[in-house]
Amino acid sequence: MKKHNFSAGPSILPQEVIKKAADALLNFNGLDLSLIEVSHRSKDFVDVMDNACNLVKELLNLPEGYSVLFLQGGASLEFLRVPYNLLKVDGKAAYLDTGTWSANAIKEAKKLSNIDVVASSKDKGYNYVPKNYTIPSDIDYFHCTSNNTIFGTQLKEFPKTDCPLVCDMSSDIFSRQLDFSKFDIIYAGAQKNMGPAGTTVIIVKDEILGKSGRVIPSILDYQVHIAKESMFNTPSVFAVYVSMLTLEWLKNLGGIPAIEKLNETKAALIYAEIDRNPLFKGYAEMEDRSLMNVTFNLTDEANKEIFDKLWNAEGISGLKGHRSVGGYRASIYNALPLESVQVLVEAMKQLEKQLS
Ligand code: PMP
Repeated sequence: MKKHNFSAGPSILPQEVIKKAADALLNFNGLDLSLIEVSHRSKDFVDVMDNACNLVKELLNLPEGYSVLFLQGGASLEFLRVPYNLLKVDGKAAYLDTGTWSANAIKEAKKLSNIDVVASSKDKGYNYVPKNYTIPSDIDYFHCTSNNTIFGTQLKEFPKTDCPLVCDMSSDIFSRQLDFSKFDIIYAGAQKNMGPAGTTVIIVKDEILGKSGRVIPSILDYQVHIAKESMFNTPSVFAVYVSMLTLEWLKNLGGIPAIEKLNETKAALIYAEIDRNPLFKGYAEMEDRSLMNVTFNLTDEANKEIFDKLWNAEGISGLKGHRSVGGYRASIYNALPLESVQVLVEAMKQLEKQLS
């Protein structure tokens, strides 16, 4: 097994979670049955779903009036499900375009109605987060992406809106303290900070639903899923179970305040080396740097072979940048230990030594 997993997603999970999941695959809750061969309607699994939903509410400190769902289709299905539920038939929504995933969300929403893109950072390869944009008043909702997984930028502040605020938090949910009650819909694919691919957590403020006047196909209708407690169709039982285990792990660690501290320490360490070492340069604008996905390049591509050898020798994996950015991307999600970042920083220092 590789020791230091910097993969962008699916990505590292706590070892203790993986071990517990492996045990449940063989014998779930002492039933002498595998987790993946019991009914999703059995009491044992219904308890898993309830526990996972309650942990989400507790960790995010959500007030009454929110529902939590675990559905399939990835965050990509929410790109469509959100407009279906919130966009009035002749309505309009506004989007902030901060990267490939925002652009994909916009593309899907445009299939239903007019979409106002209030600002975009595409002009500079999405290496910054636009600010000082105006959100129109006559819209049904505003959509943003809190963390741009591919480009390594992160929203540090969220706009105040008079309309529902919707956020794709796929790559930084549960990683930092925010006032989550400011949001009306939050969605996130599990496969970064929560579990394996196969489920999406969706947090919805109940009062915003049922107002679009649209005929919504059942599978796209949040109210249907809420009424059926995420069991309108068969949930991805394994992904929900592992997510529950990861959320329990996070709670035992001290919740979001504790993990935020660790995430800040990890990010500070690697960004400091990128800024100190003349052989590297960061991709994202400093003020918008992500605490989850650290994107950087070599100042001289000729050093690629020797640097790649160095980090490979340390048991590091998943460091290759996304094909649209190139260079390197260190995804330093919740479960990645500080030690892994220390090893990477050491490899960066080693490159400098070897070349001096
Ligand atoms: N949004 C963001 C911010 C992402 O990082 C990703 C996947 N990397 C997606 C959406 C798409 O998620 P999925 O593959 O679960 O549909």
